[in-house]
Amino acid sequence: MIRVEGLRKHFPGAPAPALDGVSFTLETGQLAAILGPSGSGKSTLLRCIVGLERPDAGTLHLGGQAGLVFQSFELFPHLTALANCTLAQRLVARRPRAEAEARARSLLESLGLGHQLDAWPETLSGGQRQRVAIARALAMEPAVLLYDEPTSALDPSLRREVIETLRRVGGLGMTQLVVTHDVRLARASHQVLVLDQGRLVEQGPPAQVLDAPRHEATRRLLVQED
Ligand code: ADP
Ligand code: MG
Repeated sequence: MIRVEGLRKHFPGAPAPALDGVSFTLETGQLAAILGPSGSGKSTLLRCIVGLERPDAGTLHLGGQAGLVFQSFELFPHLTALANCTLAQRLVARRPRAEAEARARSLLESLGLGHQLDAWPETLSGGQRQRVAIARALAMEPAVLLYDEPTSALDPSLRREVIETLRRVGGLGMTQLVVTHDVRLARASHQVLVLDQGRLVEQGPPAQVLDAPRHEATRRLLVQED
């Protein structure tokens, strides 16, 4: 279980805090979607959870490291899919080659890339590259996997593929937190969190938050999407 309590971050010189007392819990294996207008603190929240920003106050209970999947995937172009997924295991986790490769192979297979182990990134589709990036993050066995707007700048067919991939990763028992503007992706989650001006203004299952929004900020977001 992931527990975030009273998280606060005020960047020096900023007129208002980027995060202003954010608290939520997420059960192991669940997918939570974070919605919110631009500037509401979504990326800051992910960056605090993964340790790229230091919160001013609040506590984080993750039960391990968080893994961030970058929007642009950032695969190493000179390494095959398999090698992309073994490098950090060997250099950071210091796993022996055979163990690292076995883990990478199994994760790539479970994400439908068993026939692409030796492929170079430039020969893979955007969706396949993203799955390699996810497998690479999973190989380090994070407690939670974070995604910052994984479907923005993707065409609709690829958006569906991302939703399918997150379902598969959830099927592996992984806890996931995804920042998105995609209401369809939010619908595929267990819990929707709505941020507005650094505060969590609404949270609950998608059927509640998306179909019967109680907060003005949520209604504004949904109107924009329609
Ligand atoms: P979102 O991802 O929801 O668009 P961000 O978390 O990026 O929002 O930003 C929240 C607020 O914090 C914004 O007002 C933004 O300008 C500010 N902010 C984010 N990062 C920094 C930073 N490194 N320094 C100063 N202000 C920042
Ligand atoms: Mg952002």
